[in-house]
Amino acid sequence: MDLGLRGRRAAVAAASRGLGYACAAALAAEGARVALCARDRAGVDAAAARLGDGAVPIVADVSTPEGAAAFAEAAEAALGGVDILVTNAGGPPRGTVGEITDLHAYADAFALNALSAIAMCQVVLPGMRARTWGRIVAITSITVRQPAPDLVLSNTARAGLTGYLKTLAREVAADGVTVNSLQPGLHLTERLAGLGIDPAAAGAQIPAGFVGDPADFGAVAAFLCSDAARYLTGVALPVDGGVAAGLQ
Ligand code: NAD
Repeated sequence: MDLGLRGRRAAVAAASRGLGYACAAALAAEGARVALCARDRAGVDAAAARLGDGAVPIVADVSTPEGAAAFAEAAEAALGGVDILVTNAGGPPRGTVGEITDLHAYADAFALNALSAIAMCQVVLPGMRARTWGRIVAITSITVRQPAPDLVLSNTARAGLTGYLKTLAREVAADGVTVNSLQPGLHLTERLAGLGIDPAAAGAQIPAGFVGDPADFGAVAAFLCSDAARYLTGVALPVDGGVAAGLQ
């Protein structure tokens, strides 16, 4: 299936590895021109070199809305406009409601996992609306659907972002801009490996029987960005091998 992405210009945040990189790689494989960011020059340069096809590496820290907006602006300048935005960032610290009592921790998590994505949307939306074509895909988490007890910061910030995205999706639907989020379950990224999770044991708990490959996630992101998905907007979609057990 031709996804119709050849020549589209994509900005993918936090993408030197993991799920962000997988989205960038899937888009580049479909012929999109990609600008990507990470905080460290060496990491983002190496990722861009792996992507090939003129991928543009940008050093940016998306833990604040200012840093995130700066990335989106630099991507627009480098590509001559942004047709596709994939928002992403690292995750906030773990902790339960009882453990995380400092409200500043919530504010930091909100900046990292909600405001930064909103700031990137604000930069790219005017161009997308003017051209009547745009795709926004936010990487959130399955914890939006099933809050994890020890991830209260992530649960709270990402649910807030999901509310914004749903509101935005309906506001810009008539302009040819779709807005969706993807909720990763368990994917074998460096972050996961760093947590010491055994893929075989974890996979046995997943209905599909295995931990997702980041490429499984990137493929769904690329489809959401395609012409074929033009009627799909306002969706928060789990990519989790069947982990989420509810109907919605
Ligand atoms: P990862 O650690 O493998 O990769 C994170 C990427 O983001 C790296 O390229 C890193 O350089 C970049 N990055 C981190 N903080 C940044 C910042 N402040 N500014 C710019 N770049 C930054 O992580 P991942 O597993 O790919 O996860 C991506 C997102 O998805 C995270 O928010 C994570 O919490 C969430 N998530 C992941 C999973 C999973 O199974 N991997 C599950 C649920 C949610």
